[in-house]
Amino acid sequence: MSTWYYSHPSFFKHDTGYGHPESIPRLQAIEKALSGLEFLNLVRKEAPSGTHDQLRLIHSESEISQVLEAIPKSGEVHLDPDTVVSADSGTAAYHAVGAVCAAVDAVVAGQASNAFCAVRPPGHHAEPTRAMGFCLFNNIAIAARHAQKRHRIERVAIVDFDVHHGNGTQAAFQRDATVLYASTHQYPWYPGTGAANETGVGNIFNVPLRAGTGSAGFRSGVSEKILPAVERFKPGLILVSAGFDAHRNDPLASLELEEADFAWITDELLRLAAKHAEGHLVSTLEGGYHLKALGDSVAAHVRSMMRAT
Ligand SMILES: [Zn+2]
Repeated sequence: MSTWYYSHPSFFKHDTGYGHPESIPRLQAIEKALSGLEFLNLVRKEAPSGTHDQLRLIHSESEISQVLEAIPKSGEVHLDPDTVVSADSGTAAYHAVGAVCAAVDAVVAGQASNAFCAVRPPGHHAEPTRAMGFCLFNNIAIAARHAQKRHRIERVAIVDFDVHHGNGTQAAFQRDATVLYASTHQYPWYPGTGAANETGVGNIFNVPLRAGTGSAGFRSGVSEKILPAVERFKPGLILVSAGFDAHRNDPLASLELEEADFAWITDELLRLAAKHAEGHLVSTLEGGYHLKALGDSVAAHVRSMMRAT
């Protein structure tokens, strides 16, 4: 079997305006990094559109209409100081949700071993009732619910190694013991949440890391807290919020990780997926703003996924 890779032309049209870090060239850098011969067997899929019903698994009707009604015919509109929409943003946001849900379908059906979704806009800051932090809808939270409702998977683990805390994902599940949310992130930092004492109903595992932490501190945080929590939880599916902005070259943060760290955590999560979830693992792009570092880091992540097939 194989690793599937989801993209869609609309992800290359979600225009956030001049100078915005969450930009179209991010995806161009990823495609370039995955263009080598070693990625020839990566199965490339066009993401379907998500549905209104899928959005409603997490988001309120008013949040959905607030986002969609704000989208302009031309130019850009700011939903908050960081979160920008333009004419194609709604189509992209729907396909980002559709990508992650379709990837879950493909992996659970046994068509793909695992899958990576190179989506824009990202999702983990989007709360059930609020778009924020470059994110319109919470792609990974929707996919977790989709897996539970559509495929009767009882326990879903979400592991988030983006350098920012996934406040939106935590908000979606902090009172729901059927979904585990575990995150490493720079702290204190944007968005301000993610303290170690935010534990939900015993299902939230935050590993806040100080600026400059580096590989050793990251790996010990993951090994001591996150991997054992996922192990005990015995998930039927592992979802990954794969942000690569913890890389040492990233301009938005300073956690000082390297490509090898992303490969390492990917291997560890694949090992747990093989043990508890028939290998079922779906990863989706969140942040990562240094173009070369982003491309190289995604390549390391996807290389690990392909090796596990
Ligand atoms: Zn981030």
